Amino acid sequence: MSGFLPYGRQSISDEDIAAVCDVLRSDFLTCGPKVEEFEKQFAELVGAKNGIAVNSATSALHLAMLVVGVGPGDRVVTSPNTFLASANCAAFVGATPDFADIDPVSYNLDAKSLEANWKTDTKAVVAVDYAGQSADMPAIARVARNHGAQVIEDACHGPGGGFVHDGRSFRIGGHPWADITVFSFHPVKTMTTGEGGMFVTDNEEFARKARLLRTHGMVRTPADFVGLVSPSEFQLSAFSFQLSEKGPWYYEMQELGYNYRITDLQCALGRSQLKNLPAFIRRRQEIVARYNEAFAALPFLKTPQLSTFNSEQLVSWHLYTVQIDFPSLGRTRSEVMKALRQQGIGSQVLYIPVYLQPWYRETYGYAPGKCPNAESFYAQALSLPLQPALSEEDVQRVIQAVRSLG
Ligand SMILES: *Cc1c(COP(=O)(O)O)cnc(C)c1O
Repeated sequence: MSGFLPYGRQSISDEDIAAVCDVLRSDFLTCGPKVEEFEKQFAELVGAKNGIAVNSATSALHLAMLVVGVGPGDRVVTSPNTFLASANCAAFVGATPDFADIDPVSYNLDAKSLEANWKTDTKAVVAVDYAGQSADMPAIARVARNHGAQVIEDACHGPGGGFVHDGRSFRIGGHPWADITVFSFHPVKTMTTGEGGMFVTDNEEFARKARLLRTHGMVRTPADFVGLVSPSEFQLSAFSFQLSEKGPWYYEMQELGYNYRITDLQCALGRSQLKNLPAFIRRRQEIVARYNEAFAALPFLKTPQLSTFNSEQLVSWHLYTVQIDFPSLGRTRSEVMKALRQQGIGSQVLYIPVYLQPWYRETYGYAPGKCPNAESFYAQALSLPLQPALSEEDVQRVIQAVRSLG
């Protein structure tokens, strides 16, 4: 890749393009066979019993809130070091999004802070796998489940990743410490469907409900009918004959649902991308290792650190985020980003602690100082280019540009 290197970008192969074109020539652009095939393959890859593909991870998070039954009067705690959607989903259903601090090594939700700040109205925890590194799910689940709360894992950064617990390795999406796990297929993420998301769970009732709410709360299959429209209810009606008849045209709305469907075009792309996911992950791991080695001795910069239960072999890296001591470097972050940009190198700041957003401050009264670790992480954070398509020369260019900052 020559020219400008953005911090993240999709990798699309000729096979990906051919797979999408095949769908364009087929009978189904949406609601066809590719959706189910993609769901099955993805669920199998991550080790989950059910996969429900939707039009975004934001929709998947909304469905997660709905199926676990979070609503007005409830609290949902997440990490402040995340994209807005991990917290917004609680607000969608009228619950209060709240935040516990991150741990300063992995930058993920800290189980100790979660316990110390627990409030009795908390009904769910949304743990985020920042940059692809798994949050401490066993510890987070222990805290949440002791209080009777549900655990949702926002694994938008970590498809195909895993971690180690008690000497055994577990896959993100396929371990017992999350009730629901969601993934994103936005183009900056590790694999893409253009826009798209996946909801995975081993809980059959959650899966059934998520499928129902994805399409207007509506069913068409006789086995799924609840049968409230029975002949006896309509005995007095002039239309009793028509209403009691459930012909091939019949459909039934059982819940208030949405249109969160994903298309066959997108799922064909997703299936094709899945074939490359192991190679994407390996290439990302290689680049991370090269950066870590090259930056190890730089006094003004801290490379990403792994928590004890994560391993270089298992992490599916989405972001390469370093901590830079801007005052000691004698440059502001804007100046550093500009200096990198002049050398064709993109960078990004991920993330501003969610509770510092104007809407959160105004709606919930949150203020600076709430999560000190997240705030000091944010003050020093800078994400550098990480994408499978980076060549050795590209990686060298990034390394030289960062070294020349000091
Ligand atoms: C990207 C992202 C989302 C939202 O994903 P969409 O598919 O764009 O809706 C949610 N959480 C995290 C942590 C993300 O990075």
